[in-house]
Amino acid sequence: MKVSLLPALQDNYMYLLVDEATKEAAIVDPVEPDKVVAAVKNAGVKLTTVLTTHHHWDHSGGNEKLVEMVSGLTVCGGDDRIGALNKKVGHGDQFKVGALNVKCLFTPCHTSGHICYYVTGQEGEDPAVFTGDTLFVAGCGRFFEGTPDNMYRALVEILGILPPNTKVYCGHEYTVNNLKYAEKVEPDSQAVQQKLAWAKSQRDKQLPTVPSTIGEELKFNPFMRVKESPVQQHAGTTDPIATMGFIRTEKDNFKVGGR
Ligand SMILES: [Zn+2]
Repeated sequence: MKVSLLPALQDNYMYLLVDEATKEAAIVDPVEPDKVVAAVKNAGVKLTTVLTTHHHWDHSGGNEKLVEMVSGLTVCGGDDRIGALNKKVGHGDQFKVGALNVKCLFTPCHTSGHICYYVTGQEGEDPAVFTGDTLFVAGCGRFFEGTPDNMYRALVEILGILPPNTKVYCGHEYTVNNLKYAEKVEPDSQAVQQKLAWAKSQRDKQLPTVPSTIGEELKFNPFMRVKESPVQQHAGTTDPIATMGFIRTEKDNFKVGGR
C-alpha cells in the first residue's frame, strides 16, 4: 500500500491510499476535491472510495463536490450527517480497496458517528490507521459528542491494541502543541522530549509530523497513557477514566491552544 499525504485548509490532512498491485485508490476526508482529483491524475490511479472519518465540515465538506467530479464513488462513513454518504459503516465492517483490506473501527466521542479506518496490505507490510479527529499525534480530539469513558474505549481498548507497527495518519497537524501539553503532564518523559524536539525541527522545515505509530503513541501520548502512574499522578486519581476526563479538561484550557 502507498499513502500520500495531501495538506488541506489550515492544518488538515487528506490521504490518498493506493493499492499498488491494482492501482485502485481511496481518499480519506477529501475536503479539497480539486486537489484530490489532481493527485489522483498525477498518480495514475483509479479512485473508487471515499473514507470519511466524521461529519465536521473540514473533513466531509468536499464529498458532494467530489462525487460530481468523479463518477461511481463509494462514500463510506458512520454518520448520516456526512454529505453524499452512500455506504454507512459500523464497527467491525470490512471491505476491499483493490487488494487492501479496510476494517471500520467505531470510535464515538469527538462526534457520535466517528469512524477510524484500519488498513492492512500484504504480509510483512506495516498496517495503517486513519484516525480523523479521534487520535492525533500525541493528542486526541475534543469530546464534543461523547464522554471520557467513550474516549477511553476508543484510545485504550480499540486503537491501543492495534499492532505497535501500525502507522497513524490523523486529521490535523497539531503535534507540537500536543507535545507541549504532554510535557506538562509528564515533565520527566524522555519520549516526550525527544518527539517534541523532532516535531519542532520538522515544522521548522515545513515538513509533516505524520505518520507516527501506535507503539510510539503509547510512549508519549498522555491520552493513550491514562493507565500509567505518572499520568494518573498528574490527574490526582488512580482511575483511568477519571484521568482521561481530567487531562482533556486541562488540555482544553491549556495556554498554547490546539484541539
Ligand atoms: Zn472534527
